[in-house]
Amino acid sequence: ERYVFRFGGGRTDGQGRSKELLGGKGANLAEMASIGLPVPPGFTVSTAMCTRFYDEGEHFPDSLRAEVADGIAHIEAVTGKRFGDAADPLLVSVRSGARVSMPGMMDTVLNLGLNDQTVEGLARASGDDRFAWDSYRRFIQMYADVVLGLDHHGFEEALEVAKEDRGFTLDTELSAAELRELVDEYKALVRNEWGRDFPQNVQDQLWGAIGAVFGSWQSERAKVYRRLHDIPASWGTAVNVQAMVFGNMGDTSATGVAFTRDPSTGANAFYGEFLINAQGEDVVAGIRTPQYLTRAAREAAGAKAASMEEAMPAVYAELADVFRTLETHYRDMQDIEFTVERAKLWMLQTRSGKRTAKAALKIAVDMANEGLITREEAVARVDPNALDQLLHPTLDPNARRDVIAKGLPASPGAACGQAVFDADTAERWAADGKAVILIRTETSPEDIHGMHAARGILTARGGMTSHAAVVARGMGRPCVSGAGTISIDAKVGVMRVGGREVRQGDTLTLDGSTGEVMAGEVATVQPELAGDFGVLMGWADQVRRLRVRANAETPNDCKVARDFGAEGVGLCRTEHMFFDAARITAVREMILASDEAGRRVALAKLLPEQQGDFAEIFLVMAGLPVTIRLLDPPLHEFLPHEEAEFEEVAKATGLSVEALQRRAAELHEFNPMLGHRGCRLGVTYPEIYEMQARAIFEAAIEVAEKTGRAPIPEVMIPLVGTRRELELMKAVVDKAAAAVFTERGRTVDYLVGTMIELPRAALKAGEIAEVGEFFSFGTNDLTQTTLGVSRDDAARFLGAYVEQGIYARDPFVSLDVEGVGELVTLAAERGRATRPGIKLGICGEHGGDPASITFCEAVGLDYVSASPYRVPIARLAAAQAAL
Ligand code: ADP
Ligand code: MG
Ligand code: MG
Repeated sequence: ERYVFRFGGGRTDGQGRSKELLGGKGANLAEMASIGLPVPPGFTVSTAMCTRFYDEGEHFPDSLRAEVADGIAHIEAVTGKRFGDAADPLLVSVRSGARVSMPGMMDTVLNLGLNDQTVEGLARASGDDRFAWDSYRRFIQMYADVVLGLDHHGFEEALEVAKEDRGFTLDTELSAAELRELVDEYKALVRNEWGRDFPQNVQDQLWGAIGAVFGSWQSERAKVYRRLHDIPASWGTAVNVQAMVFGNMGDTSATGVAFTRDPSTGANAFYGEFLINAQGEDVVAGIRTPQYLTRAAREAAGAKAASMEEAMPAVYAELADVFRTLETHYRDMQDIEFTVERAKLWMLQTRSGKRTAKAALKIAVDMANEGLITREEAVARVDPNALDQLLHPTLDPNARRDVIAKGLPASPGAACGQAVFDADTAERWAADGKAVILIRTETSPEDIHGMHAARGILTARGGMTSHAAVVARGMGRPCVSGAGTISIDAKVGVMRVGGREVRQGDTLTLDGSTGEVMAGEVATVQPELAGDFGVLMGWADQVRRLRVRANAETPNDCKVARDFGAEGVGLCRTEHMFFDAARITAVREMILASDEAGRRVALAKLLPEQQGDFAEIFLVMAGLPVTIRLLDPPLHEFLPHEEAEFEEVAKATGLSVEALQRRAAELHEFNPMLGHRGCRLGVTYPEIYEMQARAIFEAAIEVAEKTGRAPIPEVMIPLVGTRRELELMKAVVDKAAAAVFTERGRTVDYLVGTMIELPRAALKAGEIAEVGEFFSFGTNDLTQTTLGVSRDDAARFLGAYVEQGIYARDPFVSLDVEGVGELVTLAAERGRATRPGIKLGICGEHGGDPASITFCEAVGLDYVSASPYRVPIARLAAAQAAL
């Protein structure tokens, strides 16, 4: 088996090989080389080697040495330089590259192959002493940090001191001799901290770096990132070794990053940043403030420093051609890294660019309109979960803003929360239910967990392509980066800006779309759902087969749901309606009544209230189906707790407080979720369901008369396990309907059906369908009862279960397709066998989860029902499932 694949210089060993094998970076480097773009030669050690490395106790097989030597020989042949040659050395970069881009992996090591001899050779061959020593000091610093794992602060400090001593502000001001001194200091630092001399043998350097890349696959940082992004540990990473090209060879050299379209807005304009006389990560790390790529961007920002378009017009024109070639080739927006060495352009990376949800929509719609992709592809391109970002409020443009600072609009959306200055605190406070804003001078992969926990991120340094900006956009967190006027003292927990102070715990608001940082809380407004969003959702609706309904129980929820495109209500829970302050006493009176007569007195008080609830909902949903679930929770959830509450019920009923308390104690249950709830309430106290059914039909007729458009009530009986239960409850509902229809002299269409949320119901679905006119899979309870896992107690152990691969994802978030899914499939089959065309839907949390929706499509359900804000997500996911 072969593990090393060469690229560049007219060779592409990896032609046709997958990203899975070569990693994203390696595969795209090979691809760029094969379509004739200028890529420095190199080779990729495949992900299969990473897997083997771990299988064999973190050792390389001997055969790899020969393969790597061949790879180096290839680079030597193309460049005409030799690795370790004291006269004119070949230098390489060692770059990690998993299938998907993964912060948390080893950082790149540049300028590998430099030592005390080769640095002299590099200086002579390039005719530039300063460049050679700058490269060497960078190499030691990176290698010490990334490969040797030494603390990087010492190195940064030495560099700062070297500049300060001479009154410099920029690295580029240091002379060759000064850099040479710095190299000596660096070497001494390595000796002190590592206990050995900096490795001078270039082969040792190379193997040290390759080992470090593979080693970083199992680093804590990488593990955290994988967990957050559902990346399996089995994928492994590849290693890329590539000839160095130099952006730090003076003023005709540069390095930069770019997007073929604006990753923030999606606008069809090149977007990027570059630095003259700089190397690699300088741009991303925010060491100097980068310059704009295009003149238009520079002018829009009112910046002085020349754009690349102005400073290097010829190279810029070449780069713009490359952008067009890449977009046509990949048919997607690309995120690009390039370097210019003495006016010669080199491409170092391309990949599909991360983008905000807004940009994803715009780019997909634009590219379909440009004919670059089809409408179906456009629909497939947008991650349904990412829509979440767009469906939430933004800052009210008319609200007063106390703007205290302004940075770059790095990731859009508004966020409000309490200031914290480190990732651990952010995580802790968020776990306590607080909204936090994470404030850092700049972020690094070590901050990922805090960024994830935060509502928004603010940094003092770094551009639009800084770590903070890229990661925040990926996570959908609003972010303001590079707010240069703020100064942060993380130790004390304070941020100072323009004579003002923000302390840990103070409330801040960020506007990631404008870059504004505001003191206090600023009012928000609902999002705009027209434009690209509307267009793409329209295309999605043409593709999808599944209908999408909402779980909604208030007129307002129903309205939001309809605005988001819901085609009905899939679950209207009725229990919350009973908690209303004005009604709870009557509810308690009903529960605590000792006989049917007592219950009927209380229910009579609730009837008009309940009828009003349903009328309001039917009004909003006129003409659409509304599934109403009759009372479900254990009654004791409504019981009074405090003396005063008991007294109130006593007053209403004429019973004594003691008698009521005794009755309440009788209602205690050991396992209420499996106790007296669901249709068991209806079986024992049919008058409750009778009242609810009556309220539904009276409301339906009222709305039909008022609007001329009859709603379509679907009365749903919860927690059914047997045919007989449903038969009894359906009789109660039908009787109430008949009575109301006679009284009012008119009828409305309605259905009576059941939830399938017990394994027995799924198994006996064939019989149950003889009575039930529809099934709605209540996958929350069905998951709970099938797994025997209490969803209220699962948090204690489910994390460990997911971590150890027992369940791939939290089964309450994403349907356990293998287990619970099998019951759903079976129930659907058996239900249809009895009643062809029986209406089937799902109304658990899973109804809004894209992976679960894919399953619902496969089983051929008729609809999914999701919470109102997830309705668009479900519409898009349903379309993707149908493609
Ligand atoms: P990351 O995955 O963090 O982006 P990369 O491997 O892309 O890491 O390396 C980061 C940067 O280092 C690149 O953007 C590029 O500027 C620089 N770099 C990497 N390899 C080379 C090379 N062979 N020559 C010059 N610069 C390089
Ligand atoms: Mg990196
Ligand atoms: Mg890169």
